Amino acid sequence: MKSLPKIAKVLLDLSLDRSFDYAIPPDLAADIRVGMKVNVPFGNGKGERTAYVVAFAETSPYPTLKPILSLCEDRISLPDSLIRLGEWMADYYCCARESAIRNLLPGAVRNGKVKQKTENWYFLADRDSAMSYITANAKAKARCAVLKVLLNAPGGMESVQLQKEAGTSASVLKKLLDDKVIMIEERGVERDPFKGVKVMPTAPKEPNEQQAEALQIIKNKLHDRTKEESHVVLMHGVTGSGKTEVYLQSIAEVIAMRKEAIMLVPEISLTPQTVGLFRARFGDELCVLHSGLSDGERYDEWMKVQSGKVKIAVGARSALFAPFRNLALIIVDEEHDTSYKQSEAPRYNARDVAVVRGKLENALVLLGSATPSVESYHNATTGKYTLVKMTKRYDPTVLMPSVSVVDMRLESDENGRIPFFSKGLIQAIRDRIGRGEQSIVFLNRRGFARQMNCPACGYIAMCSECSVALTYHRRSQMLSCHFCAGTMPAPEICPECGSHDIRYQGNGTERIENIFEELFRGARIARMDSDTMTRPSLYEKTLASFRKGEIDILIGTQMIAKGLDFPNVTFVGVVNADLGLYVPGDFRAQEHAFQLLTQVAGRAGRGEIPGEVLIQTCAPFNSAIQYAVEHDYDGFFKEEIMLREELAFPPFGHMMIIHFRGEEVEKVQEAANALMTLIRPYIDPDTRVTEPAPATVERIAGKYRYTALFMGGKLAQLRRVIKRAIYTEKHPGVDIYVDMDAISFL
Ligand SMILES: [Zn+2]
Ligand SMILES: [Zn+2]
Repeated sequence: MKSLPKIAKVLLDLSLDRSFDYAIPPDLAADIRVGMKVNVPFGNGKGERTAYVVAFAETSPYPTLKPILSLCEDRISLPDSLIRLGEWMADYYCCARESAIRNLLPGAVRNGKVKQKTENWYFLADRDSAMSYITANAKAKARCAVLKVLLNAPGGMESVQLQKEAGTSASVLKKLLDDKVIMIEERGVERDPFKGVKVMPTAPKEPNEQQAEALQIIKNKLHDRTKEESHVVLMHGVTGSGKTEVYLQSIAEVIAMRKEAIMLVPEISLTPQTVGLFRARFGDELCVLHSGLSDGERYDEWMKVQSGKVKIAVGARSALFAPFRNLALIIVDEEHDTSYKQSEAPRYNARDVAVVRGKLENALVLLGSATPSVESYHNATTGKYTLVKMTKRYDPTVLMPSVSVVDMRLESDENGRIPFFSKGLIQAIRDRIGRGEQSIVFLNRRGFARQMNCPACGYIAMCSECSVALTYHRRSQMLSCHFCAGTMPAPEICPECGSHDIRYQGNGTERIENIFEELFRGARIARMDSDTMTRPSLYEKTLASFRKGEIDILIGTQMIAKGLDFPNVTFVGVVNADLGLYVPGDFRAQEHAFQLLTQVAGRAGRGEIPGEVLIQTCAPFNSAIQYAVEHDYDGFFKEEIMLREELAFPPFGHMMIIHFRGEEVEKVQEAANALMTLIRPYIDPDTRVTEPAPATVERIAGKYRYTALFMGGKLAQLRRVIKRAIYTEKHPGVDIYVDMDAISFL
């Protein structure tokens, strides 16, 4: 027999980046597991803290160890493999181990405040005595009514429902309890995030040739995989090629194998429609994990995984950490999506961590996209991943949309002013309204005007807390900061010189809506951006009425770029494709522009009528635009990867940014210089370093921001040195953190 563990290494709920040794009392030794939440004494007094067991040990360098006090009553425990994944994340993403382990559990599970929901159920002590009670107390109508209801409910009835059906109150139930004719029981119930949402079950669709090929490769790998073979499949399928059906049938295979699957989708696609697709196929075998649930629902959904009640978890980023113990498949849909990267510690990319979890647990990882990230596609072309291509739309009669470009410089008026809309765009929308078809108009900027300025004195309305111009929102008559969310009333005269000639520059989605209301009188117009879609229910409502044909023109930001599948949309207009093309210092700008344009264009022509896409730009020969027009991912990739290799940008090396933030700029500079001095000896000679300097947006929410950039293939040792320095050298008033494989330069 295996001997019982004696010493536990635990991580406390603090950010110290170190574990502590505790003795395991004999009465707990048989039950304790790695990954369990426990209570331990901490500090000199009688302090008590929760902690997570991360390992067992035979010996400890400390002679006297305090004992673990108890196991937490909800018996939450993480699989060993997840603890190892957490340790890997702490190391790779350069964050405290506690923060990485904490991240594995939803807050609702971690904080211990949410408990299982219970209901009071009543049932008869026995039928005979109930019947004689009715005979003996015939005048007590209320009591008799309760008993009669219960006589017809052999399983008992929940308190509220019982009172309703019998038309009585709690005091009547109390009397019956006192008389011992009925009994009460507290029962645990699950909170149901799908309450009231019914879905019709669906059967698998007959796969077409390309889908069948993809499925064959996936199934072979699920059943029989040699260690040498890649455990990652990249499925590159054009918009409308039927990737979802491949996901569904791959998961069905996993279920048939009695194993488990995780399905990740970008947060924005987590609509009831998406979840509904999966529920329709898998019913109660599935749980959802995402931030839109209430704490109680999240707790219950997570517990369903922990207790083995479900075999499939669908969700955003955090669903990757569903505590399955027999995982066979992780799917990452829209794998290129930047919402997989978490912006707070640990700053992980769920796509990359999925690949690591798959490796640790010998599970297959399926990445899918119409526009794969350059990193993933590079891995596929070099043989690190297996590439599966789906080049045709699922329904062969549905053609790819025709995409054309309008050079806005040629549309300018006699004064050289460039209009918001080309004649072609206006005509295209007008035609659609006339034919009863729908249009989508895309602009990646919300608000009415980008900035408010005074031509008389040069005043520009800036945020007082950030070094950025404020955006004008017309409906609310407010200026708002898109970085810190701060707002102020829009001035009617220039606050500097008193001029009445205050002007607005640049356009946003709100202004488009405004102009369209004039241009297309009588048309039904809706706008979807984070200003109008303040609640998930509004998003649902708007999409539902768009689906029903109650909206002619849908205007929106990237919120409408992804996943929407409406057969009656035959026109997509991109108002300004140049937004995002030239982000200073962002080597991914071209890639993101290509992805966004391809995704937006993919919303057109998903039904019988061919779709048309019109892209307005002042840079018609930009390669991201050109390749998007041709639907030529491979062409785009070949050009982009050559550039990346030449400049040794990712994937030919990693990129790491150290951020320094604080309210006093001198302290921020000081901390940055001190850290650089400390780490300089550990920087590999092949690593390129950009010394600490003010970030692109120098100040956000009152804090000055400095960044130092490192690019190279050998950053592991450097990361360890940086991490030690961050957790030992204190710089009061300055936050220092690392962003590994950063995607934002702001
Ligand atoms: Zn002025
Ligand atoms: Zn601000």
